[in-house]
Amino acid sequence: MIDYKLHIPGPVNVSEGAYNALTTPVMGHRSTDFVDLYQKCQPLLQELFMTEDPVFLSTSSAWGVMEGAVRNLSEKKVLCCMCGAFSDKWLDVAKRCGKEADPYSVEWGSHIDPVELDQKLATGEYDLVTLVHNETSCGMMNPLEEIMQVLAKYPDVISVIDTVSSFSVVPIPKDKWGIDVILTGSQKALALPPGLALFSVSQRAFDRAKTIDGRGYYFDFIEFLKNHEKGMTPSTPVIPLIHGLLYTLEKIFEEGIGQRHDRHGKLNQIVHQWVGKNGFELLPEKQFASKSLTCVKNNLNMDVANFVKTLRVEKKLSIDGGYGKIKGQTFRISNMGNESPESIEYLLKQMDEILPRFI
Ligand SMILES: *Cc1c(COP(=O)(O)O)cnc(C)c1O
Repeated sequence: MIDYKLHIPGPVNVSEGAYNALTTPVMGHRSTDFVDLYQKCQPLLQELFMTEDPVFLSTSSAWGVMEGAVRNLSEKKVLCCMCGAFSDKWLDVAKRCGKEADPYSVEWGSHIDPVELDQKLATGEYDLVTLVHNETSCGMMNPLEEIMQVLAKYPDVISVIDTVSSFSVVPIPKDKWGIDVILTGSQKALALPPGLALFSVSQRAFDRAKTIDGRGYYFDFIEFLKNHEKGMTPSTPVIPLIHGLLYTLEKIFEEGIGQRHDRHGKLNQIVHQWVGKNGFELLPEKQFASKSLTCVKNNLNMDVANFVKTLRVEKKLSIDGGYGKIKGQTFRISNMGNESPESIEYLLKQMDEILPRFI
């Protein structure tokens, strides 16, 4: 029984309204009813993605599209910018897809440096760059605008930007910044259940994909484009989540995108204040701290696993006890999705109540 509320950095808490939308009766995915649903989502998605390119719906987790992008877009060599668990993994994934790939790696918590990236790209070895905008594992948000300014100097290098945990949290103007492929997932700031990935592809990236063998079928970007033109997806999609998506998009536009960004920023500040007040530190460089979650360094040496468990069992609130190699050395609190000052203050108050037992 799930009797606790999620404050982990994905999946996040799903609203009752979104859950209700999932129970809309299923229709055929080649029916006019489906096309209607798809077409209703599209302009809202394009506005949210800040793009005139199509926005595709993939029935997969975000990794499906992350892998797909590599398979669709590189024939020379991939440069993987690595600054945490997800971005580190991408190198491994590219190699498993049979691609040549090099790491550009910084310490977890540090940001990808545009100047160093420029030097790597100047070698002319690469035709694709993978970058995680917001490294969820260490709560670090890369300076994407500056990074995209560097990429703009290299028209033959396609950019794939994972915005899984920053999408709809901060503005990411895809077209303005020249992002070729931007991707996200349903279970992070969009606050839907997992199972749907959303992505948008530039004309330049389609042109590249057309020249690449071995794109496969399920994640073939050209296949997505062909079906998109009919208001459909290549194969049967997770229709309940698309109903949930339309509901969520309408809610987002009701609140206003700017207000949504501001709200996330404010909630994140409230968590940061709690961190400072209790003598903890942030794991990432402060200037590059994420706005969607807080990765707290366990500098007070508490038993993180036990703290997290106690909070869940006694207070019915679930935070995260650290990811991968920094499990136990950090803990993470999400402020993504539908949180409010009240819900975040409540979480922090409950944490305050048990904290003295652990430090
Ligand atoms: C959660 C997350 C992923 C993985 O998403 P899945 O939906 O599990 O495939 C990838 N990148 C980042 C930055 C994430 O936060």
